[in-house]
Amino acid sequence: MVMLLYMISCLNGNVIYSSETYINERLNMKNIKDYNLEELKQELVDIGEKPFRAEQIFKWIYKEKVKEFEEMTNISLELRKKLKENYIMCNYKIIKKQEAKDGTIKYLFDVLDGNAIETVLMSYHHGYSICVSSQIGCKMGCKFCASTGIKFIRSLTSGEIVEQILAVEQDTGVRISNVVFMGIGEPLDNYDNVVNAIRIINNQKGLNIGARHISISTSGLVPQIYRLADENIQCTLSISLHATNNEKRSSMMPVNNSFPIEELIKACKDYITKTNRRISFEYALAKNSNDNIDDAKELVKLLKGMLCHVNLIPINKIENGTYTKSSNENIMRFRDFLNDNGIVATIRRELGSDIEAACGQLRRKNL
Ligand code: SAH
Repeated sequence: MVMLLYMISCLNGNVIYSSETYINERLNMKNIKDYNLEELKQELVDIGEKPFRAEQIFKWIYKEKVKEFEEMTNISLELRKKLKENYIMCNYKIIKKQEAKDGTIKYLFDVLDGNAIETVLMSYHHGYSICVSSQIGCKMGCKFCASTGIKFIRSLTSGEIVEQILAVEQDTGVRISNVVFMGIGEPLDNYDNVVNAIRIINNQKGLNIGARHISISTSGLVPQIYRLADENIQCTLSISLHATNNEKRSSMMPVNNSFPIEELIKACKDYITKTNRRISFEYALAKNSNDNIDDAKELVKLLKGMLCHVNLIPINKIENGTYTKSSNENIMRFRDFLNDNGIVATIRRELGSDIEAACGQLRRKNL
């Protein structure tokens, strides 16, 4: 009966419940994809196996992209059985898949415990980029973002983050070359799992995606920015700035009340000094809110001399939202002012807006 209901709701495209089997499996077993290579070696030793088995398992999962332990043919039948009895492979089911005119694909995945998450695949001239979710729901409450207002349920585990990439590669057959943590959730509010997922994604024996091709976007959790600077991961840090003074930023992003602009910029400078990596500042332009030349002047003052880049995003209006998109003319004027004043700025190409897959549009009503 449960399975039948599940299938019917899949056809409707709005399922949130998985079959009971998955829920039970998820509650009682460990996810093999939650482990980075070193941890998996230790785990295997703990269950009485040789550590090199971890490399074999990694190869099967991340290179061969198998979905079942049975397919790991250079591992003894006995060990395969043991693995199957104690771990899940966490293969996502696709609940819904939508393709935009520009080729962007938005997936709604069943994460096997009754919840669903969204992931977006984008195609660029330099390859395929994936936008992954890091949490089920978000606590940040940014006023312009569609993820705001959905109930926060929980953070995703490392394996659940990584599985988004595997599931999309398995479904499309493409090789993903860039990963951005810009889906639902605040990645730095799920710090340990996000960093561990990056270690799996980045590992040569894992998904082997270069750290420089991985971006973490944050609304500005200052203590975690300091922590990340010490991780020795060469990923790109994107800061969702969106305003240049505290009054305006706090009205758009409540997180600014806890970590005001001065503290945020100080943490960014520390990040640049320690990593020598350029920071990307995201600035979503909203009509008559943050898009006039005085805002651009303040932005130049704030970022002058920093190793950074400004990514201008034409804001996507959300249902019942008060912020609307700036005119193209204003967006270009804003960009030109920054460029003329020594701040490198580009306008983000909008992908997938016809399927609500563009920046800040990800939201499942039933998350
Ligand atoms: N919580 C993280 C990552 C998720 S949002 C963060 O805040 O950075 C990814 C990016 O989309 C952020 O820069 C965010 O500010 C931006 N964004 C959110 N809603 C938007 C909207 N309606 N229009 C344009 N960009 C939006």
